[in-house]
Amino acid sequence: PVQPRERLRVAIQKSGRLGEPARELLASCGLTWRESRDKLFLYGESLPVDILLVRDDDIPGLIADGVCDLGIVGRNVLVEHGLEREAQGRPADLNEWRQLGWGTCRLDIAIPESEEWTGPQQLEGLRIATSYPQTLGRWLRDNGVDAEPVVLNGSVEIAPRLGQADVVCDLVSTGGTLRANQLRPVTTILHSEAVIAGPRATLDDGRQEIADLLVRRLDGALQLKESRLLMLRVSRDGLTDLLPLLPEGHEPTVMRVDDRDEVSVQVLVHGSVSWSKLEQLKHAGAHNLMVLPVEGMLA
Ligand code: ATP
Ligand code: MG
Repeated sequence: PVQPRERLRVAIQKSGRLGEPARELLASCGLTWRESRDKLFLYGESLPVDILLVRDDDIPGLIADGVCDLGIVGRNVLVEHGLEREAQGRPADLNEWRQLGWGTCRLDIAIPESEEWTGPQQLEGLRIATSYPQTLGRWLRDNGVDAEPVVLNGSVEIAPRLGQADVVCDLVSTGGTLRANQLRPVTTILHSEAVIAGPRATLDDGRQEIADLLVRRLDGALQLKESRLLMLRVSRDGLTDLLPLLPEGHEPTVMRVDDRDEVSVQVLVHGSVSWSKLEQLKHAGAHNLMVLPVEGMLA
């Protein structure tokens, strides 16, 4: 039994690929912190949210055990954890609360460059080096292939050269590491990105409220990155023709401009606004066009 807590605890990777972007994301939600002396904890100052710095593999377990409430982790790690629980006959306990769109990679099967790829059946009876035995196991079952996973915790890609395995099942983003080891990816068994992982059930005590607040700010921060404010002026008569040309976005705001036969239009746009779009709007009668970045937003 875990002590009731009035502070939220978020697990992130201490170093590695996801550590820095995770800190940046939390900072963009207005969280400031003070580092513990052993550098394993960041005490939240501006919000009752503390950050625990750990190895990424430990994150699902920490949430499952109630030591942490949320985590920022790769889907690959979360899926492997879920399947492992299932294999032990326990129900899945964690969910993806949000997808973050970075830390993207694939879990791929890779074979020696010199070999042909004819399909999953080719793997029958082979030894496959991987750090993701459960995810690989599910894929093998789904494809009706009987192969032998060789579980390694690091340097999976050199296993074929060392004679430990015939092929690998490993994380790939650019494929550079595989190429350096004369391997080539032939099929993807999981598409991954960084996610916010949390329990399926709601949190106890005051933590759900803090989690809701944090996730609302995160949603704002995630949307913000993609948003621009487009402003322009147009004659009142020209407005009707112009509105359908506006880029995809929120409901536009139309304001009268004093003493003029003109209106000012503002619209929050998803994504950037191209030059050709601006030119098209100008051609349709708009002027004083302006595209602005958005600093803060709360829907
Ligand atoms: P830790 O010491 O925390 O266990 P690690 O070596 O397991 O670190 P990293 O290599 O930093 O982990 O990768 C963390 C996560 O980054 C992966 O689980 C995956 O979700 C994501 N990732 C993105 N691109 C890649 C890639 N090319 N190779 C490995 N992981 C990648
Ligand atoms: Mg790890």
